[in-house]
Amino acid sequence: MIRIRFHGRGGHGIKTASRIVGTAAFLAGYQVQDSPIYGAERRGAPVTAFTRMDTTSILERGIITQPNFIICGDETLLESPATGVLVGRENASAVFINTSNLEALKEKVKVGAHTVALDITQRTLAHIGKASALSVGLGAAAVRLSGLITIEQLREAVGIELEELGLDAQVIEKNLRLAEEVYGGLEKVTIQPGKVPPKELVHEMAYDPVLLGTPSILAPGNAEARQTGSWRVERPEIDYEHCTRCGLCFVGCPDGAIALDEQGYPVIDYDHCKGCLICLEQCPRHSITSKKEVRSW
Ligand code: SF4
Ligand code: SF4
Repeated sequence: MIRIRFHGRGGHGIKTASRIVGTAAFLAGYQVQDSPIYGAERRGAPVTAFTRMDTTSILERGIITQPNFIICGDETLLESPATGVLVGRENASAVFINTSNLEALKEKVKVGAHTVALDITQRTLAHIGKASALSVGLGAAAVRLSGLITIEQLREAVGIELEELGLDAQVIEKNLRLAEEVYGGLEKVTIQPGKVPPKELVHEMAYDPVLLGTPSILAPGNAEARQTGSWRVERPEIDYEHCTRCGLCFVGCPDGAIALDEQGYPVIDYDHCKGCLICLEQCPRHSITSKKEVRSW
């Protein structure tokens, strides 16, 4: 069995990437299984998806802890061990990272051997004009590294999946060109026999006691320690020239990421602002604007 684990953020198309690989593998004659898991269901939050392919029935279920391939769509996820991107990497045949500068990344994070990199974001921006829509590029990378699926099967799978999402023919054509470029820019990796998980794993959700399960915030817990600012795809910025200190953004921020300074002006805590832009919608003076976060591109 070949096990592929995808990591990215809400809005990157991680689930679609795993579906593209699943469909392409199916077209190549394999039995397949693909599934995502989400934490917080919103843009920017970490998302993981899994694809399994085999020549016989797949009875294994749940999360993949021993992947043959790890496909990481956002290098900033590697900075937080809690995202689990490198879990099982010792036995993986390759770790793929979407980055423009693998050497600089290696200085910050121990990614280990068998790491392959390509700047999918830049290619996605060039082909379809939207840097965050990484599904096709990441799917094509996984397909190419596995060496088990042809470019024709990949093209057909991209067409099927994007049509199902309701994309028009022109956009699909651009994505097909992106898929071809990524496929052509990588080489097949020799697949090492992966480590078989100790038992069939099912992701079990822990149930909180009623007091914690109900919306009563008793203390910040570990929320302060979690740098959720790295989830941000859009960055809100306050124009203090036009801010009237009404405080609506302060009240509306669902994450308490806006404080008021001594003069009553709002101050955004970028370590914890997740970029939901509710503050921007709240501001009656349109004093908050948003800018794209620039990280991997
Ligand atoms: S975008 Fe605005 S509302 Fe959303 S978390 Fe950041 S500061 Fe709070
Ligand atoms: S909602 Fe707008 S005007 Fe009001 S405090 Fe926030 S930034 Fe200033």
